[in-house]
Amino acid sequence: MARSVFDRGALRTEFDNAGISPRFIPIIWKHMLQNPGCDLDDVPSLPSSAYTLLRSKFRSMTSSLISSIESKDRVTTKLLIRLQNGTSVEAVIMRYDTRLGKYNGKPRSGGVRSTLCVSSQVGCKMGCKFCATGSMGFKSNLSSGEIVEQLVYANQFSHIRNVVFMGMGEPLNNYSALVEAIQIMTEFPFQLSPKRITVSTVGIIHAINKLHDDLPNVNLAVSLHAPDQDIRCQIMPAARAFPLGKLMEALQGYQNKSDQNIFIEYIMLDGVNDQEQHAHQLGRLLEMLKVVVNLIPFNPIGTSSCFKSSTDQNVARFQKVLRGIYNIRTTVRQQMGQDISGACGQLVVNLSEQRSAGGASLLTDIEDLRI
Ligand code: SAH
Ligand code: SF4
Repeated sequence: MARSVFDRGALRTEFDNAGISPRFIPIIWKHMLQNPGCDLDDVPSLPSSAYTLLRSKFRSMTSSLISSIESKDRVTTKLLIRLQNGTSVEAVIMRYDTRLGKYNGKPRSGGVRSTLCVSSQVGCKMGCKFCATGSMGFKSNLSSGEIVEQLVYANQFSHIRNVVFMGMGEPLNNYSALVEAIQIMTEFPFQLSPKRITVSTVGIIHAINKLHDDLPNVNLAVSLHAPDQDIRCQIMPAARAFPLGKLMEALQGYQNKSDQNIFIEYIMLDGVNDQEQHAHQLGRLLEMLKVVVNLIPFNPIGTSSCFKSSTDQNVARFQKVLRGIYNIRTTVRQQMGQDISGACGQLVVNLSEQRSAGGASLLTDIEDLRI
């Protein structure tokens, strides 16, 4: 299979072997970003051996954009992207107006910033019981190039300023591709600030332990979802392999190095983890960390789901305990893009049967912290 020119490692190795300078790589990327999908022969000013090599082993884009669907309010655009191996992933663009809060109507110059939610795997093997992606099982890993190509496509719709790894898959289970993709996104010509990139994980401890060394300044979001090991195991099978006590130690270690807030995601499931005593347990659990808690309304994932969303009243009570008693910054995730199922964290792609899975918003609240 041909590789993406955004598979940096592969391109560097091939250039190296052919004695071509790696300084041509950013030139190729810049041209690709400006002319997505163009012929590799159209990239200007490369040595002739580079054209031959590119033609035989690489593609400008290995994935193809199948469709883009915009929500009625035009805040959210969902991109459906088919990969070379025939599977598909989704990426979701969210637009916000920095002055108006939410983008509303026409873009105003300088005021609109966009966040892209990217996928890192097709499916996911972690099997969280509330997650539509989890119900698919694991299908395949995306290459770094396939992750970056989502950003290339999205940039045609909106100027992307933030990237969150909250689409399909568990990014820390595809570690080397994740690291390479983020490095590319922070280099020329993309030049995103690492502070505007957020990696969300179910809590893969060994990967969290090395994340800061490999990707300093990137934000970490942890899908905690439960205040104790028992409840966590009930709703997240991966909690058995990555026990809560050990996960908290890893987060403490991460924070000692990074000094950034850690985002804690907590999905509110009626009667499961949303009672007042759970808020107290969570407050005590997080006491030693610098965190922002993001309470996520559960989006029903179909009839097979045995969970219900918490009532607004329970969410408000939970938030009040965390804020008032434990002094923890706590936000409630807004719902957006429901009419197009633009749901980060619950994307299931099946071209023949594209089921609406509701619509969790992408982290408006997390992004708002960095205006
Ligand atoms: N695998 C990573 C990132 C993708 S999931 C992780 O689990 O963190 C992104 C977020 O969406 C996670 O916090 C996940 O728990 C959440 N999510 C999954 N299913 C959901 C649902 N049905 N309703 C609301 N949020 C959901
Ligand atoms: Fe995988 Fe995240 Fe879904 Fe869990 S919530 S199954 S880790 S994508």
